[in-house]
Amino acid sequence: MSEKVTRQVAEAGSVMGGPVEALRGVGPRVAERLSKLGIGSVQDLLFHLPLRYQDRTRLLPIGELNAGDEALTGGVVSDARLVCGRRRSLKVWLTDSTGGILLRFFHFSGTQAAALKPGTRMRCFGEVRLGPRSLEMVHPEYQQGPAADSVPLDTTLTPVYPSTEGLQQSSWRSLTEQALALLGEPGEDVRELLPPDVLDRFSLPALSEAIRFLHRPPAGVRASDLRERRHPAFRRLAFEELVAHQVSLRRMRRRRQRVHAPALNGDGSLRARFLDDLPFPLTEAQRRVVAEISADLERTRPMLRLLQGDVGSGKTVVAALAALQSVESGCQAAIMAPTELLSEQHLRNLRRWLAPLDIAPVWLAGRHKGRERQQVLDRIASGQGLVVVGTHALFQDDVTFRDLGLVIVDEQHRFGVHQRMKLREKGVQADGSPHQLIMTATPIPRSLAMTMYADLDLSVIDEMPPGRTPVTTVAVPDSRREEVIARVREACAGGRQAYWVCTLIEESEALQCQAAEDAAQALAGALPGLRIGLVHGRLKAAEREAVMQGFAAADLDLLVATTVIEVGVDVQNASLMIVENPERLGLAQLHQLRGRVGRGAIESHCVLLYRAPLSHQARERIDILRRSTNGFQIAEQDLRMRGPGEVLGTRQTGEMQFRVADPVGDESLLAAAQQTADLILDRHAEKARDLIARWFGARVAYGGV
Ligand code: ADP
Ligand code: MG
Repeated sequence: MSEKVTRQVAEAGSVMGGPVEALRGVGPRVAERLSKLGIGSVQDLLFHLPLRYQDRTRLLPIGELNAGDEALTGGVVSDARLVCGRRRSLKVWLTDSTGGILLRFFHFSGTQAAALKPGTRMRCFGEVRLGPRSLEMVHPEYQQGPAADSVPLDTTLTPVYPSTEGLQQSSWRSLTEQALALLGEPGEDVRELLPPDVLDRFSLPALSEAIRFLHRPPAGVRASDLRERRHPAFRRLAFEELVAHQVSLRRMRRRRQRVHAPALNGDGSLRARFLDDLPFPLTEAQRRVVAEISADLERTRPMLRLLQGDVGSGKTVVAALAALQSVESGCQAAIMAPTELLSEQHLRNLRRWLAPLDIAPVWLAGRHKGRERQQVLDRIASGQGLVVVGTHALFQDDVTFRDLGLVIVDEQHRFGVHQRMKLREKGVQADGSPHQLIMTATPIPRSLAMTMYADLDLSVIDEMPPGRTPVTTVAVPDSRREEVIARVREACAGGRQAYWVCTLIEESEALQCQAAEDAAQALAGALPGLRIGLVHGRLKAAEREAVMQGFAAADLDLLVATTVIEVGVDVQNASLMIVENPERLGLAQLHQLRGRVGRGAIESHCVLLYRAPLSHQARERIDILRRSTNGFQIAEQDLRMRGPGEVLGTRQTGEMQFRVADPVGDESLLAAAQQTADLILDRHAEKARDLIARWFGARVAYGGV
């Protein structure tokens, strides 16, 4: 379906539902620019809401202006001067009975300068700022001359729209003006898609009323209410968007309920042997989630379950049990990790665990090429490979499974929503779809999980394996580096191992690796006698593997690494971690890193070696980390500080961007949105489709087609 088709939700044959080209000022070029913003129909313009507003409804006396305001003011020119300093400029002093303000112009014509002579009346609009001697406005919009005073004031606030290159605010205002003029015309109104009793119950204004208000708020509306999105008109649209989102997720869930999946009701024999061989009993929490998963897998509807558990909570064992249930039932299981390093670690664990059961896991990595790759593919296609481990390479089109019963995705937040959808499609065959288990070590706050993953079931491991001592975290400035190095020396002399993690702000992997190499060299100089290893993303998998194994076998004392070791790496004797420049990492990432230590009974420490001075935000982040070792608490804080886009790792792709709603701030609306979504799906199915089209258009992730 094309974007245009899916987004028209107005009456058939109306201008409102038709293409934007119907409006004055829209030719092919403008239409093209608008379509970049997802605007195809006239109605789409009305859902493109202002970012902020300017107030030209009130004329403020100069004495009432404050720095930072955008304001309309007026007065008489008391002095005007051409200044020929470094940069030629025109300075104009404007005064009224309450005070004076300096207007500065850098670009102006001779006629303009001549017109602004003392005694001239002026009215101007601009941002007020504090200059060296007085308040100033730089390049205000202005009117001058005797008529300036008689220009009528605006009756509505002036909207400022999010725009794209080549589209002026004046165009936006003209376009939205034309679209707004259609509202209320017979056959042209935007269709109300929320049932009237819902609007009543939550005291929400009608759609067309809310839209008109938000595009042209009447004089006297408090700009702060609008900025903080408290106004009922905002809540009305935010609510509808949340409903649309819930409708789309719930519809996907309902559709999934109609798809067939293989019932994985194995006899439990492999699982029993596996548990017997395991050197520890499962924790209570592990047993609970294993039971939840196991029950789902026995059904003939595809499971879609998110398994959340803090770093080190023992998700891998849970995954192995689920995979074995699939194998017992004669189906294959695939386990995907976000990086090759991690997939190798899974491979290692599974090899060790499954060898006594005579199951040899198959590994498919991006670096497998040619014949080698073909052999692996053959084993997957023939079904000989019962447990398949890999990275996103498993997504690729040439990978075919004989009988895939279960897909396990580890650390899913890195895969992004789109990939999740794609994977879901992957296993779907004519006769059904495999079960899916998604595991994440970045706890997602409950509120966000409810909004974003309403199509998933949730399992939570909320308990750590016994015998762990919480990690103590300290922050130390770079000026005390020597002390920190001494601490590493001491720990290693006592038979412990340590990590030294290098971070870099640059995205470039090459630079990161260079930084780690430099650090390793410097540390080798400062710590003679220590056996130091180095891992970074540029090493060949085999080299990296060798270093990691050396560290795991305690042949190395100190492991210098980039953030590639962030997830998954597991060495219990490592009791000290130094993180250089922690101010460059987000909370969740730091928490993940820190999870590499404190995996055994030894008391562990994490030293955040920061470069002073710390920004306010960085200080706050570090404080949170020092105070808490609970991943869920940390995630809540992270969400509060960075917003959902960052926390979910989807900011760049924009997949999870809402237009009006703030899924965290609008939490109070969420429960209502969920109820309403069910109501619409049950009783107004035709509206469900229209709601999704209106808010998400052709964005595949929500289409659920
Ligand atoms: P994560 O949830 O971060 O993936 P892992 O599965 O890597 O955690 O488990 C971390 C460590 O804890 C591993 O060494 C694992 O063998 C161990 N472990 C898992 N479950 C238990 C348990 N019930 N008791 C003791 N140790 C456990
Ligand atoms: Mg893990």
